[in-house]
Amino acid sequence: MTLTPQQQAYLTTMGVTVWKDQSAPERQIQESQTRSAEAGPPAISLTGDPGSASTVNARNLDIKALDWSDLADQVRTCTACDLHTGRTHAVFGVGSQQADLLIVGEAPGADEDRQGEPFVGRAGQLLNEMLKAIGLQRQTVYIANILKCRPPNNRDPKPEEAEICVRYLYRQIELLQPKLIVAVGRIAAQRLLKTDTALSKLRNKLHVLPETQTPFIVTYHPAYLLRSPLEKRKAWQDLLFVKKTLDLTN
Ligand code: URA
Repeated sequence: MTLTPQQQAYLTTMGVTVWKDQSAPERQIQESQTRSAEAGPPAISLTGDPGSASTVNARNLDIKALDWSDLADQVRTCTACDLHTGRTHAVFGVGSQQADLLIVGEAPGADEDRQGEPFVGRAGQLLNEMLKAIGLQRQTVYIANILKCRPPNNRDPKPEEAEICVRYLYRQIELLQPKLIVAVGRIAAQRLLKTDTALSKLRNKLHVLPETQTPFIVTYHPAYLLRSPLEKRKAWQDLLFVKKTLDLTN
């Protein structure tokens, strides 16, 4: 990929130095065998665990029948798990409903909870720069999270919270029909690929989302990159892989 001066500038903002004599390594696009043998409930399922009190309002809800607007209303008023008690806003998602690319993060943080939009804090600013580095504007992609409500103190999502909330994300995927999904960070990657494999082993491969066969790439979470700037070079390789894959789908 030949970088335009503008992309060079974005990379500099991201903190990535691009060496002129180093071209992006050729990648073998391997489809990984990440489809899980574990059956689990169908992810685009409408029904919750019938035994769980926390799925009461998800149980009777036909999520699959909801359009964008009704789905957003449902998320905004959701009380299916305890996280709703601590939220300022549920964070539905943002971007173009015609987007080819869906970015999936973990859960809203404090800034996102306050503003009701995903990735608006420091990590979000870095995500915007990462997208710009491969020629994408934030408003042309779609951005959503596994969880729509902020976990207290930004703790990891509990499995039961993710189990309930991910149904909204699956309906978003169904409505959006993206050409490519990029999971940023371990939580989103492992939850959607239904695996415990370390993120370092999941990146650099073309997976598919088991339920829809949508091409799926894993990269670092921008918050991790803020803490570990040396990893930005690997993230840049992932971004080139994303760009190349998107170009192949067009
Ligand atoms: N981290 C995430 O995973 N999602 C957000 O929306 C913000 C920070």
